[in-house]
Amino acid sequence: MKQLHYDVIVAGAGNAALCAAISAREKGVSVLVLERGPKHKRGGNSFFTDGAIRFAYQGIKDIRKIIPDISDEEAEKIHLPVYSETEYYDDLMRVTEGKSDPELAKQLVSKSYETIKWMKDNGIIFELNYENQSFEQEGKHHFWGGLPVKTKDKGVGLIKQLNKRVEELGIDVWYESRAVEIVADNNQITGIVVQQEGEKLTVNTNSIVLACGGFEANKTMRNKHLGSEWDTAIVRGTEYNTGDGLSMALAIGAGTFGDWSGCHSIGTDYQAPRVGDFTKPGDIYKKHSYPYSIMINKEGDRFVDEGADLRNYTYAKYGREILKQPGHIAYQIYDSQVRPMLRKEYDLEEATCYNANSLEELADLIPVNKVKFLKTIKEYNNAVQEGEYNPTVKDGKGTIGINPPKTNWALRIEKAPFYAFPVTCGITFSFGGLRVNTDGEVLNTKGDPINGLFAAGEMIGGIFYHNYPGGSGLMSGAVFGKLAGASAARYSQEKKCLKIN
Ligand SMILES: Cc1cc2nc3c(=O)[nH]c(=O)nc-3n(C[C@H](O)[C@H](O)[C@H](O)COP(=O)(O)OP(=O)(O)OC[C@H]3O[C@@H](n4cnc5c(N)ncnc54)[C@H](O)[C@@H]3O)c2cc1C
Repeated sequence: MKQLHYDVIVAGAGNAALCAAISAREKGVSVLVLERGPKHKRGGNSFFTDGAIRFAYQGIKDIRKIIPDISDEEAEKIHLPVYSETEYYDDLMRVTEGKSDPELAKQLVSKSYETIKWMKDNGIIFELNYENQSFEQEGKHHFWGGLPVKTKDKGVGLIKQLNKRVEELGIDVWYESRAVEIVADNNQITGIVVQQEGEKLTVNTNSIVLACGGFEANKTMRNKHLGSEWDTAIVRGTEYNTGDGLSMALAIGAGTFGDWSGCHSIGTDYQAPRVGDFTKPGDIYKKHSYPYSIMINKEGDRFVDEGADLRNYTYAKYGREILKQPGHIAYQIYDSQVRPMLRKEYDLEEATCYNANSLEELADLIPVNKVKFLKTIKEYNNAVQEGEYNPTVKDGKGTIGINPPKTNWALRIEKAPFYAFPVTCGITFSFGGLRVNTDGEVLNTKGDPINGLFAAGEMIGGIFYHNYPGGSGLMSGAVFGKLAGASAARYSQEKKCLKIN
């Protein structure tokens, strides 16, 4: 017999949802997690991640509290500058062009470190991200870009550890259980309708946390909100984030907030699966060394400043730029000087790559306008300025006299062999969401709370606009998941007390 009443029900089983479930259960209430997918496809986009997670810290001493395995000897070899709350906040504001909601942004940043510690206390294992966020110089590992930590075994490890904790705490999880409707009476949540194998059942509760993702996997919603060109985008993560939570909340009067015409999207391998393949997690299709490349479209033209900033601050907006190119394709071009420095994903068997001993031969291998392709590279090479090349900082080694410029890390493409990696646009998650307050309570169109309704993760609008500082998605999910779970539990307990009295 299924239990049909819970104090708190959480829709979704990704990072935000499981953090919410754990946080609610810590307050002593009964919790049910509803997951649309089957058990072997659990974990949502969070499962597919690289596990990179951005939080504020005061140097290596704070990091060692999260990763106690770092020995004194290892610590000696690490250069890891402080990443303060102010820097995190400023990065968020800078990349969102000042649009991130100040209160939500402040909440995310100021709660980031304590939430990481809470995750660790709940069994999440973290490690230093040497591979992708540091460069070795004179025997020291220099970490750059405020993102030195990732979860062990990436998103796979994160979801495994979260589920382990969920089980330890006695939280019920129903798989293949799609939340389809919120039941409310007079601005008060009373239950949720769940679809299981074509049957619908209502589970009673007075507190729901919606953490069931954005609408990135829904073609119709992508078309409507992002534009018809988004039809062709590859979906990098789960097939299940089709905007159900948003639609359910809007149906009972929730207010929308944030950048509904914006999304996180990147340059991903042109041959990547059309939608995230749960048997190939680990974010293996991205191609994130482009700041050291030039990117050329089919017409033979460059179209962005590849070196405008550190990767962490440009990658989430360049997918859109690639989508705008003819055939939605671009080629990252490297020569043999740079090739050994590329990230691991370039060496995987899944990486699509063309290489040749001359640029002319390379142009013959890929369907580009050969004359313009060669002219663009020649003009770029002529525009490269002298200076010290240093991938650990914005080195200012740029170009003069070409448009778009390349502002940092401009090296001539001149040493054979030459490489072309074809990329297309992969959508990660939609930015638009629900209006919530800093406790994760969902507000209605008038700005008042809907009693008993909370949200977290991708479902929250107003934090990310246009762009995004890498590693903030998992952090936002954890911070607001923890807050929403605790708020939902508190609300449910207060409701119970009222009933008893
Ligand atoms: C390939 C890839 C790599 C990424 N790398 C990083 C990274 O390194 N660092 C970072 O910070 N961010 C990264 N992100 C972004 C990050 O995944 C998201 O910001 C974050 O995981 C969102 O968490 P969430 O819990 O809100 O959503 P999700 O993890 O997507 O969880 C949503 C859950 O809801 C379920 N669901 C959907 N509809 C329903 C329904 N009707 N009923 C019940 N359940 C439902 C889904 O099945 C899913 O389990 C990456 C994303 C992708 C796709």
